[in-house]
Amino acid sequence: MELYVPDMYKKNIYAIDYNKLKNNGIKCILFDLDNTLVPYNEKVPSKKVIELFKKLKTLGFNVIIFSNSGKRRLRKFKEILEVECYYHCRKPSTKKMYEVLNKYSYNQSEVVIIGDQIMTDVVGGNTVGITTILTNPMSKKELIFTKFNRLRERKVIKKLSKADLFYKGKYYG
Ligand SMILES: [Mg+2]
Repeated sequence: MELYVPDMYKKNIYAIDYNKLKNNGIKCILFDLDNTLVPYNEKVPSKKVIELFKKLKTLGFNVIIFSNSGKRRLRKFKEILEVECYYHCRKPSTKKMYEVLNKYSYNQSEVVIIGDQIMTDVVGGNTVGITTILTNPMSKKELIFTKFNRLRERKVIKKLSKADLFYKGKYYG
């Protein structure tokens, strides 16, 4: 069950205390794109996201977009936000997470993944042993594959609640 429990749970990416992450030794932030940074049908980053990324870079973080979406979807974000992007990550696959760890010689304790899905972002991150932060999805609109994942997620959340491990809407961390 621990595999499904995020280290922190926040309403959205703006409710996260990034200074605290820095003080805890985090050097690299992997951001999920769809419904974490922007609603899944938005083609460019909002002003708020642009400002947040500037702030995170100033704080010294290596900010990376880490998405299951394809290269074309990520192109504009890469261009405007000027960050490295990993596409077709197939989360919860851990392959590309290890690629990041190896490329920059990070320890697990130096990397965090922030995303809106337990079945992909949290499970992948927990499997590798990096810090995981779950946010609420920005929009109810989702791809068919995500809808399938949500179905599984709802079942998992039910079990987690029964085991007193996680409650939807009860933020922590
Ligand atoms: Mg997502």
